[in-house]
Amino acid sequence: MPWVQIGLGLAVVAVLSWVVYLVGHRMSAVQRLRDAEDEAREAEHLRSRREARMPGGSPEHPIEVASAAVIEPRACSLPCPRCGGPAHVDEHVVSGQGRQRLRVTHMRCGTCGHRRPLYFWVRRASGHEA
Ligand SMILES: [Zn+2]
Repeated sequence: MPWVQIGLGLAVVAVLSWVVYLVGHRMSAVQRLRDAEDEAREAEHLRSRREARMPGGSPEHPIEVASAAVIEPRACSLPCPRCGGPAHVDEHVVSGQGRQRLRVTHMRCGTCGHRRPLYFWVRRASGHEA
């Protein structure tokens, strides 16, 4: 009768390894999904960083203008960094204090809908509010 026991033992081992295989397979599918999400996040992060390094893309790199009146036409002349389509100004606000006072235009692309802020610094010759 030991052969029957050995046979049963082998069957149990086979079933167990099949379960382990299935679970492992499932986990690697989940892992692949997570990797794809990480890659998408990373690509988005890189795009945002590239946009932040463009002129006006961050408060550290504002576009210098002579007067506040030229900000919106200037902002609209810059195409969407994602698709090259025309972007328009959703909102125009003043941010910051004193010498570091910046104008921010919230841009929205008319083609792909991408939104981004653009930073401007108004150069003042005499110090009075433009
Ligand atoms: Zn676009």
